[in-house]
Amino acid sequence: MSLIVHKYGGTSMGSTDRIKNVAKRVAKWSRAGYQMVVVPSAMSGETNRLLGLAKELAPTSVDLSYQRELDMLASTGEQASSALLAIALQAEGIDSVSYAGWQLPILTNSAFTKARIESIDDKRVMGDLAEGKVVIITGFQGVDAHSNITTLGRGGSDTSAVAIAAALKASECLIYTDVDGVYTTDPRVVPEAKRLTTISFEEMLEMASMGSKVLQIRSVEFAGKYKVPLRVLSSFTPWDIDLQEEARSGTLISFEEDEKMEQAIVSGIAFNRDEAKISVIGVPDKPGIAYQILGAVAEANIEVDMIIQNISKDGKTDFSFTVHRNDHAKTLDLLKGQVIPELGAAEVVGDAKICKVSIVGIGMRSHVGVASKMFKTLSEEGINIQMISTSEIKTSVVIDEKYMELAVRALHKTFDLDQDKA
Ligand code: ADP
Ligand code: ASP
Ligand code: MG
Repeated sequence: MSLIVHKYGGTSMGSTDRIKNVAKRVAKWSRAGYQMVVVPSAMSGETNRLLGLAKELAPTSVDLSYQRELDMLASTGEQASSALLAIALQAEGIDSVSYAGWQLPILTNSAFTKARIESIDDKRVMGDLAEGKVVIITGFQGVDAHSNITTLGRGGSDTSAVAIAAALKASECLIYTDVDGVYTTDPRVVPEAKRLTTISFEEMLEMASMGSKVLQIRSVEFAGKYKVPLRVLSSFTPWDIDLQEEARSGTLISFEEDEKMEQAIVSGIAFNRDEAKISVIGVPDKPGIAYQILGAVAEANIEVDMIIQNISKDGKTDFSFTVHRNDHAKTLDLLKGQVIPELGAAEVVGDAKICKVSIVGIGMRSHVGVASKMFKTLSEEGINIQMISTSEIKTSVVIDEKYMELAVRALHKTFDLDQDKA
């Protein structure tokens, strides 16, 4: 019988009652004859609680030894929920065993708090599955070559699940969460958002990378690389619904661009508040300035997203870019300390009160005027666009954070995403 990986997010694992419910659902699949591997997240709020405790003792630091302990700490959330789920399954009469990432091992690099999976040893899991056990593997974590526990970044259990599904050559990876699929935009912000029955892999990749937290971006990358069939569905349906009906519910991440998909010009809207804008003002406009500014930023391991350089006036120009909000202060310090004096720029200013709103759709490839329709909508709402970036299948704008919901709602309407699709 085929091997299936289930992933349950924090809310789905949020109480002993919910864990019991997960156990009953998994037991149903196991009794139907599937080989089952389950990847749970920490109980909701637990990762934040643990990281909050660390912060009470010492402010967040990029220091390696501090980062190492954060992973040592945060990984315990998933260890606890995995053991609890194994206990709940055993209580259901299902033979079950749980493993922490290091026990397999799930090998990662040493980038604490944002480690990348390098390999997964499947021997132990395959042995247990052959004996008829349900295997539970902690999400979010692995171990580096020096036996340090690592974590994969917030939301990383999605990535664990897909990587495990790829390594075990599972027939499908089902991501159970607190919404019943992928929506045209976050249904918490736009109640009119509609669930998509399928979304193309490329669109999902853009939605995730532009801020839709329903799937961690790396999980989508893994799914694409290893062609893992991936579905997002609700953990809140009654556990005893018909298995085949459950298996078809939610949203399928599709690798085939069917006709229907090509018709949708814009499939979804993503947004995020995770970035901050840095502007270097009055830079002498001469060759090499982008390199001088961004080279220093890259050397400090700070990732840059959008970049914009204004036309020069009186031999001076303004240069702006966005970084992750966590890197905002660090970037400002770096530029003020060394780069600005060397460049002879007038000043550097930061703005953390920005957000990025993106429209995503593979139909944009074959339709002109989609971006201008976006800009028109924003202008009608009186929203100023500070930066723009485009790719083949998305257009993103940076705007004032306080207009985020307004912009998302207006765009959702403009592109007819409120309408039921036939
Ligand atoms: P989990 O704990 O199960 O991993 P997350 O909170 O990480 O759940 O992801 C699910 C949440 O993602 C939803 O509750 C929803 O608010 C949010 N979300 C953002 N964008 C979308 C979208 N386009 N479709 C569905 N959910 C979305
Ligand atoms: N528990 C981790 C987090 O809160 C990983 C996850 O839930 O996917 O980010
Ligand atoms: Mg998540």
